[in-house]
Amino acid sequence: MKIYGFEKLSMVDFPGHLCCTIFTGGCNFRCPFCQNKDLVNMTNLHEINEEDVLDYINKRIGIIDSVCISGGEPTLYEDLIEFIKKVKATGLLVKLDTNGSNFEMLDLFVRKHLVDYVAMDIKNSKTAYPKTAGRDVIKLDDINKSVELLKLGLVDYEFRTTLVKNFHNETTITEMGRWLDGAKRIFLQHFVDNGTCLQKGLDEIKKQDAERFLGILKNHADQVELRGY
Ligand code: SF4
Repeated sequence: MKIYGFEKLSMVDFPGHLCCTIFTGGCNFRCPFCQNKDLVNMTNLHEINEEDVLDYINKRIGIIDSVCISGGEPTLYEDLIEFIKKVKATGLLVKLDTNGSNFEMLDLFVRKHLVDYVAMDIKNSKTAYPKTAGRDVIKLDDINKSVELLKLGLVDYEFRTTLVKNFHNETTITEMGRWLDGAKRIFLQHFVDNGTCLQKGLDEIKKQDAERFLGILKNHADQVELRGY
């Protein structure tokens, strides 16, 4: 599998675990607030040898307990399946970060117990999804199927939304809450423009507004928290 980034040790990418994090390149979305511009656009990247990564992982068993696979959008690549099987064979846990657009692959991972935790981005309400994901057309059916799959609780998971003033407001959050109703866990993430976003000039949502959104979503999920505020 083509790997373009490798963080050897992370205490934050998989909550409650010590993991290493692998980054794939490319994405089918263009979220204006995305801070992985080079990974998404496949520019200034150097491929990292998969065998070297697996060697490293094998030598660190006992220090790390898990591997986080992130991107870009990892599920764009069919050989992700074989790669995850190799990681699972080491006995380590696997966390997958995904935008949920590849329902079929996510379904396979969940039903074959190839992933232990899924963090799925929920960009916004269905109505505001295309604009928030930076695409004119989004296959919402697939994203909705991924939402419903995770809600079944066959694997531990979180939905996560990066709050950006230009896209999120009380109306979109209310609509999103109705959509995600019955979810186990929703994180509302703090957006900070670090200068590397796909689009310049986006604004953060202040903590008091994020708390208001949290109040709306609390009626729809077991656990709702702010992240990074
Ligand atoms: S935020 Fe995620 S889904 Fe959006 S463009 Fe970046 S990598 Fe793709």
